[in-house]
Amino acid sequence: MGIQEAFLSTGEAVGNPKFYARDEKRLAKAQRRHAKKKKGSRNREKARRKVARVHARIQDRRRDYQHKLSTRIVHENQVICVESLAVKNMVKNHCLAKAISDVGWGEFVRQLEYKSQWYGRTLVKIDRWYPSSKTCYDCKHVVEELPLDVREWVCPKCGVWHDRDLNAANNILAEGLSVSACGGGVRPARAKARVGNPQRSRKARS
Ligand SMILES: [Zn+2]
Repeated sequence: MGIQEAFLSTGEAVGNPKFYARDEKRLAKAQRRHAKKKKGSRNREKARRKVARVHARIQDRRRDYQHKLSTRIVHENQVICVESLAVKNMVKNHCLAKAISDVGWGEFVRQLEYKSQWYGRTLVKIDRWYPSSKTCYDCKHVVEELPLDVREWVCPKCGVWHDRDLNAANNILAEGLSVSACGGGVRPARAKARVGNPQRSRKARS
């Protein structure tokens, strides 16, 4: 499918380790076995417990992986820019539904948030309406449409070839850095409002 949990502006796709797929197979197998056992039987109860164990192990691994990743990102970067995804909208899209629910993006951003505070880093959340994917990083041209399954595209204005995820990550970073340079803040909307006010008052004074 080619959809990653997280994509770093360094070009590194992270958060979609192979063990996810292996775990899923294991879970499906346990569930199939459980479904085949006779209702109310001891074997069915045993199979049910097996399914629960596989579930728990998957949860543990994912949580562990997310924590390692968020710690690493916070350690390696002074300023971290993330996009607050419109998870509900994406879940409506069939193809992406599984990838997004695997992601646990909200939980991941939460981890980045409090770890950034611990280590004195700046976390900038880019509003979800910012067209990070549809904006050409090179010339800032915004294309009208970029269906979710398009992973590579060429800017119609400047002709630069883009990897969808890398282009979006670069845009998020640039946007985040400009927001944090304008006074920093976890919420770009508020930061913008803060930047806007002094200008207006200066104009009013002159
Ligand atoms: Zn362009």
